[in-house]
Amino acid sequence: MGNNDPETPQKPKIPGTPLQGWWWVYILVGILLISQWFMWGSKSTQETTWLDFQNTMLARQDVESIVIVNQDKAEIYIKPDRLGQGIYQEIPSGKAGPHYYMNIGSGEHFEDKLEEFTTAKDLDPIPIKYEKRSNWWGEIISWIIPLLIIVAIWIYILRRVGRGNAGGSGFNPFDFGKSGAQVFDDTNISKVTFEDVAGLEEAKVEVMEVVDFLKNPGTYTSLGAKIPKGVILVGPPGAGKTLMARAVAGEAKVPFFSISGSEFVEMFVGVGASRVRDLFRKAKEKAPSIIFIDEIDAIGRSRSKAFSMQSNDERESTLNQLLTEMDGFGTNAGVIVMAATNRADMLDRALLRPGRFDRHIYLELPNLEERKAIFKVHMRPLKLANSIDIHTLGGQTPGFSGADIANICNEAALIAARRKKSAIEMEDFTEAIDRIIAGLEKKTKIISDSEKRIVAYHESGHATVSWFLQHTDTLMKVSIVPRGKSLGAAWYLPQEHQILTRKQFLDRLCAALGGRAAEDIIFDEVSSGALDDLEKVTKQAYTMVAFYGLDSEMGNISYYDSTGEYEQSLQKPYSEATAQLIDKAVRQLIESSYQRTKEVLHAHREELEELAQLLLKKEVVGKEELETIFGPRPDPTLYPKVPKNEKN
Ligand code: ATP
Repeated sequence: MGNNDPETPQKPKIPGTPLQGWWWVYILVGILLISQWFMWGSKSTQETTWLDFQNTMLARQDVESIVIVNQDKAEIYIKPDRLGQGIYQEIPSGKAGPHYYMNIGSGEHFEDKLEEFTTAKDLDPIPIKYEKRSNWWGEIISWIIPLLIIVAIWIYILRRVGRGNAGGSGFNPFDFGKSGAQVFDDTNISKVTFEDVAGLEEAKVEVMEVVDFLKNPGTYTSLGAKIPKGVILVGPPGAGKTLMARAVAGEAKVPFFSISGSEFVEMFVGVGASRVRDLFRKAKEKAPSIIFIDEIDAIGRSRSKAFSMQSNDERESTLNQLLTEMDGFGTNAGVIVMAATNRADMLDRALLRPGRFDRHIYLELPNLEERKAIFKVHMRPLKLANSIDIHTLGGQTPGFSGADIANICNEAALIAARRKKSAIEMEDFTEAIDRIIAGLEKKTKIISDSEKRIVAYHESGHATVSWFLQHTDTLMKVSIVPRGKSLGAAWYLPQEHQILTRKQFLDRLCAALGGRAAEDIIFDEVSSGALDDLEKVTKQAYTMVAFYGLDSEMGNISYYDSTGEYEQSLQKPYSEATAQLIDKAVRQLIESSYQRTKEVLHAHREELEELAQLLLKKEVVGKEELETIFGPRPDPTLYPKVPKNEKN
């Protein structure tokens, strides 16, 4: 309970020490150790053996009595008048017994042996007493120590789990069901604004509208309109969804609760639902406010699509709670929920229906102008040389996400710093792009001359085919310096396509097969170096046949499954006969493309050889040299004709 009574004096807060909360454990262990020490310390009884006992103590008739404790220990009392002298010199006279002890197998056996000895030697019988003693200290320790270990492990686990939750504030088991969302409000202002989000203009307008709903609800409600409850940001990884949400927090000037979907789900059942309740309660208290749930697929994945064998009750109950809260079952007035995901198709349909996340904002990968704008944003803090040409950089990075571009800028700065430059130059950016596309250069990797020859011809094969076919991207550079996992690489300047035609697909297949075909023609032998190419070609041919309906025999049919249901069921959506048809069509497509690739290479064998020799000499060949060897990319009308599919 909080101490809010003004009459009661407030206790000053003492900064926590590592001992706090654990004091009782330390005290208990201390008491146990001290008492054990006393117990052991107080013992001055010496241990003896049967031989000593028999040959000295018994033989000399020094033993007064024996007490057998718990059937396994014999305590020996020496006659008082013998103490302090002879072999008992060390024992002060008058000291109370027992004076010696001995571990024995069993009481009866001991007694028999004793009797046998005394009778044989004609000695006086020795009185024996039996006692049962319980070692309660030992027993207490034997159950307290395991208990303490279990409690310590439990507290350790709770602390570990608790650290990621409840906002990371000090551990308190009662905070377990609290949401732990990061809150941006008057005291903790988000520094990201729309200035930091480049491009994404349409998305910004839509998101701003959400903020306006909260600030001026009257404008909308006076016309009878209902304010949307949920907005979901959908887009590929790194497209700027989280950044956009942070910018909303910075611009909205209303409390903003940010949490990741995975933070709800815990190994304990019921915690997720309780965190959802807590989050909505806090948001409602501070309304108007915005809740942002990042990576909502962690909880919102479709219930029917979860693996049927692996039930996930905790995730489902968390999702159910989220659905209930969003239903307006209570009054959610003044609270708008924003969420982000890469996979909207995986989300439960109940979550996406009107009344819940009814607004979908799509964030696409940036186009040329947007990429330039993103470069500008991330170049702001960098020290740049005059040579930097943002237009070229934007052109060299099609298909890159905002996160990739941010990474390039940072990578370029690191490269320039390594070279001890005072400003980052264009070549640093180019190298950063190369590195991100093809991996880190490994100049020290040892490759034999014969392997190098294979790589040179393989790369020349790709280069030659892509140069002479119409629908391939423009080749910029070829290299046989190993990078990442690959032994060579070719850089293209991809055009930005929204759709690809069949002819474009076919040319791309040929360009990918160029390496394997060149090895085949030159060495009359093929190598394992075409693994990546063949994987790419097979996948592409399969999508052409089974997804895009680009094979005449298969017809206009697509087995693409945007809902991901077949993915989970391990069953193909077509019959065995169709599977065979698909296999056949894929094989034919790849085989005919391979023959066509070889034709192109036969026709341009001289150029192929020339480029391979130059690569062996220089390792890297740029666009100018490529043009010198191949000539300018020829007139489209001169390109080899795309053969019609045999059956077409
Ligand atoms: P994920 O789905 O993987 O979480 P995301 O879409 O949420 O990705 P963000 O985390 O928002 O991606 O973006 C990562 C980084 O990329 C940002 O911190 C930012 O530096 C950069 N970035 C992405 N998009 C943009 C943009 N439009 N303008 C400026 N920077 C951007």
